[in-house]
Amino acid sequence: MGEFELIRRYFAAAPCAQAAAGIVLGIGDDCALLQPAPGMQLALSTDTLVAGVHFPQSCDSFLLGQRALAVSVSDLAAMGAVPLGFTLALTLPDAEPAWLEGFARGLSQMAQSCAIALVGGDTTRGPLSLTLTVFGQVPAGQALTRGGARPGDLLCVGGSLGDGAGALPLVLGEQRAEGEAADYLLQRYWAPQPQLALGQWLRGRATAALDISDGLLADCGHIATASGACLQVELPRLPLSPALQALVGERARDCALAGGDDYRLAFTLAAEHLPALQAQWPEAVVIGRVVAGQGVQLLDGQGHLLEPPRAGYQHFAQDLGLHGD
Ligand code: ADP
Ligand code: MG
Repeated sequence: MGEFELIRRYFAAAPCAQAAAGIVLGIGDDCALLQPAPGMQLALSTDTLVAGVHFPQSCDSFLLGQRALAVSVSDLAAMGAVPLGFTLALTLPDAEPAWLEGFARGLSQMAQSCAIALVGGDTTRGPLSLTLTVFGQVPAGQALTRGGARPGDLLCVGGSLGDGAGALPLVLGEQRAEGEAADYLLQRYWAPQPQLALGQWLRGRATAALDISDGLLADCGHIATASGACLQVELPRLPLSPALQALVGERARDCALAGGDDYRLAFTLAAEHLPALQAQWPEAVVIGRVVAGQGVQLLDGQGHLLEPPRAGYQHFAQDLGLHGD
């Protein structure tokens, strides 16, 4: 099968590559053409997933397709954007029909649930890696950035934390578990649902937002730095799923604080918006507040400072001497 036959069969013909609003021209020409609605700005983000680094070399391709798109679209959710389209740059060691079929199916399933269309890409031979670029639209000037948190704001997250980190030993085959709790965590790892509707609702309400990909404390640090404020996280308020607690017990809090792969939104907003948030988004939880200062502080239930666990995942951290191990 040649490159063009592969693109046609698995990608151009996939459900996710069919005509959609805002897509003037999709796969097949030198460029795709997107048309944001009048008054909208284009939001775009790119992510690379490398086999053996971001996912196990031998994982199921359907699950990989779902996850690859979900983690990319999560960045659109974090900006309050509405998805338009995405491109896929795929590097493959060989064209394996069963692998490609599963991958395209996983991609299409997540694309459908996020209402985003595949509009182009590139296909090359080499060690397995995926680069997805997502495009969305957001009313001009209303995107949620990391930079607006103000002392007095509440710090909130969009739902339970640590599930992805709790699933990781199962994903890597370091731990074996079966049953409902394991299934739930694996589902949260392989198919995290980007919090698009929440992100859009937060426009004009949240003062800062991001999606948690590297661990709560590390990502709160990004808001703190960009906003020039201090984020206080109260340990007893962390939302932990029953499944995570059942599977990892005492380690659940560390998974929530420092584990990656949550893809929940973390955001700050003025307390006046709290009743509407709780009415509309019952899974959203207040986990702390913004105060004057800098950095991130972890507090116990009495407001005493605690020592945070090791920070989230960072590529090159060892090269740069950022981590001790
Ligand atoms: P070019 O040579 O102009 O860069 P290509 O031959 O790489 O074009 O690709 C042909 C068409 O197929 C383009 O529209 C491109 O966007 C699309 N395409 C290539 N690979 C993929 C892929 N993995 N998924 C979706 N579209 C793809
Ligand atoms: Mg090309």
